[in-house]
Amino acid sequence: MGVPFADLKLQYQNLKHEILPAIERVLEGAHFILGPEVAALEEEFSAYCRAPHSIGVSNGTSALHLALLAAGIGPGDEVITVPFTFVATTAAVVYSGARPVYVDIDPQTYTMDPAQIEQAITPRTKAILPVHLYGQMADMDPILEIARRHHLVVIEDAAQAHGAEYKGRRAGSIGDLGCFSFYPGKNMGAYGEAGMVVTRHPELARKIRMLRDWGAEKKYEHVLKGYNYRMEGVQGAVLRVKLRYMEEWTEARRAHAIAYNETLAESGLTLPVERAANRHVYHVYALRTPERQPLMDSLSARGVQTGIHYPTPIHLLPAYADLNYRPGDFPVSERVAREELSLPMFPEMTLSQIAEVAEAVLEHQHAYQY
Ligand SMILES: *Cc1c(COP(=O)(O)O)cnc(C)c1O
Repeated sequence: MGVPFADLKLQYQNLKHEILPAIERVLEGAHFILGPEVAALEEEFSAYCRAPHSIGVSNGTSALHLALLAAGIGPGDEVITVPFTFVATTAAVVYSGARPVYVDIDPQTYTMDPAQIEQAITPRTKAILPVHLYGQMADMDPILEIARRHHLVVIEDAAQAHGAEYKGRRAGSIGDLGCFSFYPGKNMGAYGEAGMVVTRHPELARKIRMLRDWGAEKKYEHVLKGYNYRMEGVQGAVLRVKLRYMEEWTEARRAHAIAYNETLAESGLTLPVERAANRHVYHVYALRTPERQPLMDSLSARGVQTGIHYPTPIHLLPAYADLNYRPGDFPVSERVAREELSLPMFPEMTLSQIAEVAEAVLEHQHAYQY
């Protein structure tokens, strides 16, 4: 039968009766860029994140770029972040003109290891940029404590963590700024490109509102050197529909993860660890095995689609060779990059699809081990 990695076509079929009228409202009103649907989404997303201000932007990368710029980060500055993430995290730092300085990840949760931050701080350090990888928030308390002592800005890359929680607080609401992506494959996906910055600082919110729209508060009065980073009206309307399902979808993802954990407990694979203080939202169900390729091949032969997030840590990508890092600099990131495998995970998965994936994994593991 086979199981897809995700099923966006099925989700659209389920939501079509709400999505089409929402898109029609935008077209009838000709509010193609920003407009009332984006403004309403900003309000609703703020309530969802429990953060006072939300600013709709063109994608997750522009959200990160604007957060960095609003925090005053630029050439000559350093931003402490992780090499084990999607390339956009580093790209945004480079867009700002600052230098990304990496610290390794925690071997259990794959998020920033707070114990390594202080030794990476220099007089040029301006910000810490942790990534809530796979849907689990980084260990924020020690990160915030270090930031406070060294007067650093904290920017959360929450592109994979809509609705995730740390000690009861939502992703995006804990640092100074939180950045979300609504890329179609994310837990909350637009029908195109979209992103959001959330913050509790009104002055940063105001600056980001200007920067996303050519640095102007009033038309043709350009106070700042701005960008065309606006959210489209259609994306605002689509995302408002989807936001109403986020709790249901997130709970479904969490239930699927529990089902995987239970059936794969004796598989010999390293399963995801949800830290006690966290609400993991399972953007990715990531397991680890030193024998990744044979397992991928077996699953593929049975029609079970898998992914690798991510095969190369950023410090070893050719594009960022000029940062002058070397193999061996971040051993945990390098090991996880070699061993990580992502199983199918989407809210609409059925029990029989989960059972089919788990069975295929177990069958391979038994055949391979004995
Ligand atoms: C997807 C993603 C981004 C970038 O978001 P886009 O909307 O694709 O620009 C940034 N950081 C992380 C961790 C991501 O997964």
